Amino acid sequence: MRPSKQKSRTFRRSQKRTPGGRTVRAYALRLPKKLCCSGCGSELMGIPRLRPSRLASTPKTKKRPERPYGGVLCSRCSRKRITEAARI
Ligand SMILES: [Zn+2]
Repeated sequence: MRPSKQKSRTFRRSQKRTPGGRTVRAYALRLPKKLCCSGCGSELMGIPRLRPSRLASTPKTKKRPERPYGGVLCSRCSRKRITEAARI
């Protein structure tokens, strides 16, 4: 018998209760890391943590904030970048 691929620690384990009342072990792939601001390194808000296959089916407007530098810089860093660009 071939060993189960899901026994690898690539998969997260969780306990799920079935409709029949049994408790079974469920396996799911780990989520990707949180995205960080390229300016200060803090975690970016408004960005879903999904696997690439799920990310492809989610609309673009739900994947990053709709402003300049959205999804790259945090709100504080983007505000600073825009005001500095306006002064020059
Ligand atoms: Zn930042």
